[in-house]
Amino acid sequence: MNRERGPRLAGPSGSGATDPELAALQEILRLAEDDRRRGIRYWFDPDLAVALRDRVRGLSGESTAPRAMSLPPRRAPGRIAAAAAPAPARAAASVSAAAAPTDDARPGTSRPAWGLPADAVGRADDWRGQLAALGAEAAGCTACGLCETRQKVVFGTGSGVVPLVFVGEAPGHDEDMSGEPFVGRAGQLLTKIIEAIGLTREQVYICNVLKCRPPENRNPLPDEIASCRHFLESQLELLRPKVICTLGLFAAQLLLDSALPIGKLRGRLNTEGRWPILPTFHPAYLLRNPSAKAAVWEDVQLVRRILDGGEILG
Ligand code: SF4
Repeated sequence: MNRERGPRLAGPSGSGATDPELAALQEILRLAEDDRRRGIRYWFDPDLAVALRDRVRGLSGESTAPRAMSLPPRRAPGRIAAAAAPAPARAAASVSAAAAPTDDARPGTSRPAWGLPADAVGRADDWRGQLAALGAEAAGCTACGLCETRQKVVFGTGSGVVPLVFVGEAPGHDEDMSGEPFVGRAGQLLTKIIEAIGLTREQVYICNVLKCRPPENRNPLPDEIASCRHFLESQLELLRPKVICTLGLFAAQLLLDSALPIGKLRGRLNTEGRWPILPTFHPAYLLRNPSAKAAVWEDVQLVRRILDGGEILG
């Protein structure tokens, strides 16, 4: 790849005068961007990227406030490189940019900078230990009434070596008995879906919004989700996925903070939050509606391209 060096700079006056610090910072950002486009998961802390871009803009005489202006020009959220994107990915671009919250509208958030890979931050050295400790905490949780009827807490499974997390709704009977998510018929279908994109369920991470089974497999109640969501949020913080594939309505609505039906959320990659999120149908729905498998196939192909370094345009 041709990497220009010794860039000619536009100074505060627009005169094109060079500035050693500005040149160095621009070069760092350029090299980082090159690596990102090549799919290299690297060293670059997104918060550092924001600070660098602010500094570059300051040196070149551009305003650094508001913060959103310090980032690359925002394109419609959720776009995957158009040439490689299937119809669902392009549909994601229809999410209203005007309605999307800006960085300034979310004070205190530390989401990845636009244009940088979501996993660039890197995971904590002891993330596996922390995840295990979190699972042990969940195993003794009595924060909602589901603790009275569960057999086992179903925390999550998978090594997480591939930065892909599937988030379902809640354990069913088989999961409640085994303590592992997605082991019944729906789980077997999910395993096939994962294998269809060249992965195994041991390589990814699989969990649910609720860690305990609702009686008779009823829908999760709002207070149960509210009591349990911190486990999921902590899991995601530790796993730092490159993409989250939500399965069914409840996971999508929770993680996207949306009230839209799954039919409107499915297949639309959302990059407005902490991590890219792609909702798709729940495998249990596919068992009842096999014709929906084609849509899920398209969705997981998009997931595969993201994992392969397909470009997520901010
Ligand atoms: S569902 Fe979640 S909040 Fe409720 S008891 Fe189980 S682990 Fe605790």
